[in-house]
This record gives sequence, structure tokens and C-alpha cells, in this order.
Amino acid sequence: MLKVGIDIGGTKIAGGVVDAEGRIVEKLRVDTPKDTAALARAVVDMAAHFRAAHEISAVGVAAAGFIDRDRAVVIHAPNIAWHNEPLKATLEQGIGLPVTIENDANAAGWAEFRFGAGRDVDHMVMLTMGTGVGGAVVLDGALFRGGHGIGGELGHTRFARDGRACGCGQNGCLEQYASGRALQREANAIADGGGIGEALARLREENGVITGPAVSRLVLAGDAGAIEALRRVATALGEACGGFQAVLDPELFVIGGGVAQLGDDLLEPVRIAYETSLPGYGDRPVARFAIAQLVNDAGVIGVADLAGEQA
Ligand code: BGC
Ligand code: ZN
Repeated sequence: MLKVGIDIGGTKIAGGVVDAEGRIVEKLRVDTPKDTAALARAVVDMAAHFRAAHEISAVGVAAAGFIDRDRAVVIHAPNIAWHNEPLKATLEQGIGLPVTIENDANAAGWAEFRFGAGRDVDHMVMLTMGTGVGGAVVLDGALFRGGHGIGGELGHTRFARDGRACGCGQNGCLEQYASGRALQREANAIADGGGIGEALARLREENGVITGPAVSRLVLAGDAGAIEALRRVATALGEACGGFQAVLDPELFVIGGGVAQLGDDLLEPVRIAYETSLPGYGDRPVARFAIAQLVNDAGVIGVADLAGEQA
């Protein structure tokens, strides 16, 4: 049985035809249009393209926002202009098949749990470090969604008091300290400070901006300024994980998103901050940390797997 999974990201819409074992049979990628009507059209067109060549039973669409309990409406999206957007209705009208909407991090976390880094555990937390910080919580083998469908928004837990303004309307959210964007912000601050920031400053001079992948390349080259920028966001993430451990006690944290491509360079400082933030450390069992295995395909695979499931 084949299903379609479509993952709406900030820059790209990724889609795929996915089989029951989580394998992608065909995939497509297009740029994310800026306005929301064009965005819906792009998703409808992608689904039509897949349906022309395959027998499809259901369509799942992952989106970076708070999705209501009926998996139909994007209630709020911190980094996209959606407010109570009836995405399911719009897409079903265009596609002509049942559509399940799911939070993007939930979709990615579910894919890792079923087919990736988390396939051997029952209790798992996933964090994605991209434009925002996404969270997925799997407890006892089930995706946790909370009373209104919008639980597990780990990126919007308060990390700092009176902290940086967040797209969700609050301030001090973890997302402002541990996302790919936060890494860019730290890199810019270090570039401004001279000293170890010299290579980052030069990079900014040449390209106008410091992108996340550019910081990653400097980390791999051993640049002290880039490593310090990474240490700051990794520390924020690790400290927050200490708190998540207190509440959820997962066996495994899976870290995904662009920054996670750094592998152990990221995980080592995360682990240090996590362990030093754990209540009862030394006595209690600790969780393992792993990098996401399905990388850019996780959202597509996870949302296809969840598509057609009863809300
Ligand atoms: C949103 C989440 C989303 C995450 C990653 C956050 O800002 O609140 O719903 O999963 O970004 O895209
Ligand atoms: Zn927030």
C-alpha cells in the first residue's frame, strides 16, 4: 500500500511516495512559495503528480505549526503566516483524497521511531534544530499529542527569563537559543567580538551573511569561533534536555535538523550540558543521544506512515 508524504519546510517542500516499510519509491522537491495560496497549490500539484503514476491510498502533509486535535487546522505557526488555517479542507478539495495534517517534528520523530535511530526503544524524544526547534515525544510506543493535539512543542518551553522574543509571542523560548538560527546569531556575535571570531568575520565580509552550513564547515575545519558558537547552542539544548528527562524520562534523544549533520561535534557538548543539568545525576539512569538517521526524508516518511490513521 502506497501513501504520499509531503513535508512543508521554510525553504523547500519535499514529497515522496512511501511504502509500508518506510521506503521512498519516488521523491520530489520544490521551493516553498512565499504566499500561503501558492503554497497550497504547490502541495496539491505535487500530490497530483504522484497520483498520476502510483495507486495512492492516503496523503499526509507535515507542517511547522501547532495542529489541532482533528489533524485538520494549523492553529498557530511561529515561523509561517498561518493563524487557524484550515489546511486539511483546502488540500482535500484540491487533491480529492483524505489528507492528514501533522506537525513536522512529530512526523520526523515518528519516522525515526519506526524506521530510524529510535526503532529499538519505546520512549523517545526528538528535537529538530532548524529555523525553529521542533519536538516530538514518543511514550510507550505512541506519539504523544496532548489534550488539544499540540503537545510536545519542546522548542517553546521557556529557557531564559526575560529572554529573546519568539515567533510564538512569548520570550525566552528554547527555540531562540538552540535552533539553526540561534547558531547563526551566536556566530554573528562572535564575529563582532574580534579574537576567535576572526574567521567568522572574514566569512561575513565575503558573503554578506553567515549561514548555518558555513558555520558547520568552519567547525569541521577546527575554527575556535565556530566551535564556540556551536558550544553555546549545544549547551542550551543539553540543559533543556536535562529538564525534559525530569518530566518524560526517555531512553533516547534523537537530534535532527541541519545542525545535526555535525554529528559528535554537536552531541558531545549537548551530552555534557545534559548530564550536568540532570536531577539525581550519578544515581539515575541516563538517556542516550543519537543523530537522526533519516535526515531530510524523515518528515516525508513519518507523515506518510501516519496518513490515514484515525485522528
Ligand atoms: C514550531 C513547531 C515546529 C518547529 C520546527 C517551531 O517553531 O512551533 O511546530 O515543529 O518549529 O519546524
Ligand atoms: Zn516560542
